[in-house]
Amino acid sequence: MNSNAAAKIPKCPACGANIKFLRIRSDKPFPCPACDRQLMAPEPYHKRFLLSCRILAAAVAAAATYKYWLSMPRTDAGVRHAFAVLCLTYVTTSLAAVFFGSIFVKRIFPPKLEDYEEYSKQAHYTAL
Ligand SMILES: [Zn+2]
Repeated sequence: MNSNAAAKIPKCPACGANIKFLRIRSDKPFPCPACDRQLMAPEPYHKRFLLSCRILAAAVAAAATYKYWLSMPRTDAGVRHAFAVLCLTYVTTSLAAVFFGSIFVKRIFPPKLEDYEEYSKQAHYTAL
């Protein structure tokens, strides 16, 4: 009955223990609570997550600026204000999206955890 939900819980690739969502970090490695091995979510997972947050923030910022643009005076100061509204909305929305997103996204799209120690031995990316 519950097998679908259980299958979604990420497991430690080293010892097979279920990893609680609260423990999972998408931005950096974290230790497995059972065997203490360093684990990580795949790098594209975090990148996709950040990209989604940025798209969301850009959409919200554009909407807020557009609303402001309709009501503001068409002056230099007004344009500067609109730009400030755009930047502020973008920054606050993306911070909020990353904060709340990191709580919910991993529940909706559980990452397949990787063994960080194995992963770091392989050359996946060339350092820039
Ligand atoms: Zn483990």
